[in-house]
Amino acid sequence: MKLKLHDRVDPKIRIKYRKLGKERVWGIAHSDGLIEIDPSIKGKKHLEIIIHEILHLLWFEASEEEIERKSIILTKALWKENYRRVEINEDLPLQDGTI
Ligand SMILES: [Zn+2]
Repeated sequence: MKLKLHDRVDPKIRIKYRKLGKERVWGIAHSDGLIEIDPSIKGKKHLEIIIHEILHLLWFEASEEEIERKSIILTKALWKENYRRVEINEDLPLQDGTI
């Protein structure tokens, strides 16, 4: 996703989840450091999109093609090293209240 040029070199990155079907993208990076990610993406694709959008913020002069290339390289390297997302809802209690 394209990012408008901005003069903040080091934005504080925050990630939020929002359905982005209307925008027809998986992620959006805003120049204030907010990254929006579609909640439907999982696994390796999720890792790729997070890396992709962070790279836009850190390297805003790069072309979309360059961002794609670098984010794919990073995703493959981290995935091969077994980096995976931990599910955050696994501590939800069962119906009897136990974990
Ligand atoms: Zn992009």
